[in-house]
Amino acid sequence: MLLPLALPAYDYLVPKNMKVSPGKFVIAPLATVEYLGVVWTRGEEAPKVDPKKLREIIEILDEVPPLPRVSLDFADWVARYTLNSPGMVLRMMMSAGRAFSPPTPRYGVRLVGEAPSRMTPARARVLRIAANGMTWIKSALAEAAGVSPGVIDGLVDAGTLITEELPAWAPQQLDLSTARARLTPEQADAARELLSNTSGGFSVTLLDGVTGSGKTEVYFEAIAATLAKGKQALVLMPEIALTSHFIARCEQRFGAKPAEWHSGLSAPLRGRVWRAVAENQAKLVVGARSALFLPFPDLGVIVVDEEHDTGYKQEERVTYQARDMAVLRGSLGQIAVVLSSATPSIESLVNAAKGRYRHIKLAQRYKAVRLPDIAAIDMRASPPERGKWLSSVLVEAIGETLKRGEQALLFLNRRGYAPVTVCRKCGLKFECPNCSAWLVEHRFRRRLECHHCGTFVPIPETCPDCGAEHSLVPCGPGIERIDEEVAALFPDVRRVLLSSDLTPSVSDLRETLREIEDREVDIVIGTQLVAKGHHFPGLALSGVVDADLGLAHADPRAAERTFQLLNQVTGRAGRDAIPGRGLIQTYMPEHPVIQALASGDRDAFLAREIEERRKATLPPFGRLAALLVSAGSRDAAESYARSLARAAPAAQKIEVLGPAEAPLAVIRGRFRFRLLVKSAREAGMQAYLRLWLSQTPKPKGDVRLNVDVDPYSFL
Ligand code: ADP
Ligand code: ZN
Repeated sequence: MLLPLALPAYDYLVPKNMKVSPGKFVIAPLATVEYLGVVWTRGEEAPKVDPKKLREIIEILDEVPPLPRVSLDFADWVARYTLNSPGMVLRMMMSAGRAFSPPTPRYGVRLVGEAPSRMTPARARVLRIAANGMTWIKSALAEAAGVSPGVIDGLVDAGTLITEELPAWAPQQLDLSTARARLTPEQADAARELLSNTSGGFSVTLLDGVTGSGKTEVYFEAIAATLAKGKQALVLMPEIALTSHFIARCEQRFGAKPAEWHSGLSAPLRGRVWRAVAENQAKLVVGARSALFLPFPDLGVIVVDEEHDTGYKQEERVTYQARDMAVLRGSLGQIAVVLSSATPSIESLVNAAKGRYRHIKLAQRYKAVRLPDIAAIDMRASPPERGKWLSSVLVEAIGETLKRGEQALLFLNRRGYAPVTVCRKCGLKFECPNCSAWLVEHRFRRRLECHHCGTFVPIPETCPDCGAEHSLVPCGPGIERIDEEVAALFPDVRRVLLSSDLTPSVSDLRETLREIEDREVDIVIGTQLVAKGHHFPGLALSGVVDADLGLAHADPRAAERTFQLLNQVTGRAGRDAIPGRGLIQTYMPEHPVIQALASGDRDAFLAREIEERRKATLPPFGRLAALLVSAGSRDAAESYARSLARAAPAAQKIEVLGPAEAPLAVIRGRFRFRLLVKSAREAGMQAYLRLWLSQTPKPKGDVRLNVDVDPYSFL
């Protein structure tokens, strides 16, 4: 059986009165601790240890639905692919602790009518709020009425409120008979083709359509067909906080909310959703990448929305790329996978070109809404004023947009006020004490923060080095600084800032998005949070403050990612009745990425990019793995990285580069060295890595080695 730990499967004895089968949840001892684990295989082979030393399973959890066979296979495959132990993958599959214990009922209070003999203003407020007859969670009622919980308890004692059990969450019943959208001829063709791809067995379809072309409407057809067969459907989204619009559309199309799965769920709800999926009650699930590890017994289709999004790559613990693992899950379960995007990844495009994936294109926006007109602003020709970041061309365009009563969006992929702070007197630049990174000024929170370890210090009055007063100057812009500039230019407009540090909770973000959608805001200033899949009907202008930011990275996907991101950002404009416009500020207007965006010639850019990858045997023509060594001392990290490089076996078509100090040389006080393994597609990267690691001494002391197959981060 397998425990959710970084260990292989272990053998256990099954007591005579127990009947186990693979997938069953059981409790078993390990050393002095009892663990919940899963029966993995039936143990037909002889155990690897002396049978007398084997320990017995303690208990079977018969009331918990077992993991389906396909989940066990999936865990094994993911573990092999990512070079992790299956136990760590199982741990992801079991990350819903409450699913394994009987549900604890929750109680709420409800108004029953008898007024209390003693009335106070606080009590009156509670009665007014509770008058709607709903069953309230005590704390929520107290908060809504602005009273202390004691007031509620008092009303329960007085018999005015009664306590009763709250109904537990359950998946809503879907209704497949609701009216569907009338598809355009192009959409109808796409839907027909998609349905034939998804009618049975394993297939991967790349649904490649410009922003606003109705990809969602098209894949809804495949989901509807799957649900009609009684099977389950899963939609993955890169950023789950952004799905409220999608959930509303599901409700319209399928007459009920889908089950949601993401890290923001409460522990009891996580448990309920896990069980509902395992019991085949939850038919339609929308979730973050981790939803792929839910125990679907009868999954019929997986949709990966915005498939190019790098949010699908998990970087902690088990490093996996959820889009790729969705394809693996599809092949193991013999089901259809749909990858949807307006800017597909080079990987998926090459797979489609080679015939491994089917390719469906949507070229027109719905109702012939035109794609936004996009132009580059050459910042060399029209530079902003000193200490400002918006060129007069962009400022004018914003002014015109506002005058027409339409909305504008300004995009800059940098949180905070300024990325660097310098002392004008002595030249000191504020650096993180734990990382090789500058501290970022956050003016709203009045502090300098490290974006890598979270350390912060209040913005000092005097320079800590030379003691000069008022000598600190911010260098470069973050979105807070752009906000300041906009406020000075357009003092009367309603602005909103959108970034992960300013809108940290899912509900806050959803509320802000609603305000934008309902046009309670005139200008949106945001980081990449604004790029993803929103539908803002009033948005007419999308301005990119600094298009060159992402192009400087030493990352093989820098151009591709910048293209995708900026295409998404500019694609937010003009999605409804209003024509849209995109303006891109750049100092490199001749760069192929900027040219492709401005001319709308995506295919020429992609062809060039694909050719460069081919020449350099970069993914998807070759494969990469990153080995990251880190330690509290630079010497320890470097010497282990060197010993690792020395132990690398020689192999055909596999090349080991490094070690080299990582671009981010220190994070959280840990020194970092990188090795990069490049292999031909067919060369067997995993087998090579396994052989290599088995021949290398394990890291000692505080040295850590992290293996990242198909890396997306090179910092
Ligand atoms: P995409 O996913 O390609 O960006 P969407 O599916 O979100 O596009 O469609 C963009 C907008 O157009 C949405 O508001 C959607 O409701 C609307 N839309 C698309 N196709 C249709 C259709 N056939 N009938 C009605 N509305 C549609
Ligand atoms: Zn730091």
